[in-house]
Amino acid sequence: MKMSQISPQSLYILDDDLHYATLLKQMAEKYDWNVISEQSALRFLEFDLPPSMVLVLDLVMPELDGIEVIRELIKRRINLTLILISGVDKRTLHSAQLLAQAYSINVVACFSKPVRLKAFCEILNTIRKVQVSSKGAEEDPVFSREDIKAGIEKQQFIIYYQPQVCLKTDMLVGVEALVRWHHSEYGLIPPGCFISMAEKEGLISLLTNQVVSMVAKDNAMLNTIFGKDIMISINISANDIISLSLPDQLNHLLSEYSIDPKNITFEITESAVMTNLVSFLDVLNRLSLKGFSLSIDDFGTGFSSLTLLYQAPFSELKIDQSFVGRMLHDAEAMIIVEICILLAKKMGMKIVAEGIENEKTLSTLKSLGCDVGQGYFIGKPMPVKDIVIWKNQRSTDL
Ligand code: C2E
Ligand code: CA
Ligand code: CA
Repeated sequence: MKMSQISPQSLYILDDDLHYATLLKQMAEKYDWNVISEQSALRFLEFDLPPSMVLVLDLVMPELDGIEVIRELIKRRINLTLILISGVDKRTLHSAQLLAQAYSINVVACFSKPVRLKAFCEILNTIRKVQVSSKGAEEDPVFSREDIKAGIEKQQFIIYYQPQVCLKTDMLVGVEALVRWHHSEYGLIPPGCFISMAEKEGLISLLTNQVVSMVAKDNAMLNTIFGKDIMISINISANDIISLSLPDQLNHLLSEYSIDPKNITFEITESAVMTNLVSFLDVLNRLSLKGFSLSIDDFGTGFSSLTLLYQAPFSELKIDQSFVGRMLHDAEAMIIVEICILLAKKMGMKIVAEGIENEKTLSTLKSLGCDVGQGYFIGKPMPVKDIVIWKNQRSTDL
């Protein structure tokens, strides 16, 4: 059966339960979707499937299970938007969702049977809106080693600062420095487009030095704006920490501007490519001895582990924003946030939640006893001059 002529607004439903497949098909058709429904996974895989598709997939099927179907579609390089449904228990459904996400599949919803039809229709509408708004969106540019090196030499990198507030008092306690590339051709480029390339191409320490120098220059202005010494957090890549001279180098750059190490936190994410654990720990210990604070970033994700927390002198734990962002509607994410808070408290560490996007998340974190919050709801990353506006706006809000 040839199916490739079907438009991208088509919805595929693969569920061996005819009753469900028919019910979902009828609902989707009411919302103008062109529905192709199939009960057999083997027959479905014989279709000439399009390169990009929205699929409602039942996890438990007799011939092939949902995970096997996902694997096969990935092999065919199909760009999937997935709605998972199943009669299995919630934890299995949840872990299948995470597995699909690990394959970089966009899982937009997971439904336990019986599926709530209203929620199902809302999801279909959201998918349609996203499809319409992303039409014509440009792909991220890809940069070479030479591009990044030239950007560093021309000093095109700039720093945005994102506020961090104390969740007990609502007062600002610090900012995180986040680098951006002010590119002459592409405009403002986010770090996701160049940090990993800079790491891979051995340019990250040059970039880190530039970031630290810029932060050092801005420090006095930030302290003036807030009328007190505030903490500045700087991201250090694990690839940076291969050089044993890093602590002296950072200390030197910051002391030129008379910055007290106690006002600087280095945020570190463990990396898959960490080959020399001994020198990694050597550097972290010496940064700590020089008076800098160390924060374990993206805690709870693949590489930011309990082992690292146990081995290195961290004084701050940053819960990864993937848990914070999901905590209100995902029981497992909420448990992880609670446990992270408990863990930090037990270890005498400061606990920071990042990725706070709404008031409810903020108030929940407050009630859980989280120390510090950061996120779009509090303030987006911004150039230093806009921090003044943010501060004035906020003091009128209080
Ligand atoms: P990160 O250290 O985890 O920083 C937090 C990221 O989350 C930032 O993205 C920030 O803009 C974003 N964010 C903050 N609040 C929210 C929110 O409420 N919702 C959402 N969806 N996102 C939020 P950004 O600036 O694009 O940075 C991405 C990553 O790039 C950083 O993740 C960090 O790992 C890396 N990075 C940024 N600056 C530097 C740097 O100077 N050096 C190094 N080595 N890495 C950097
Ligand atoms: Ca960070
Ligand atoms: Ca993070």
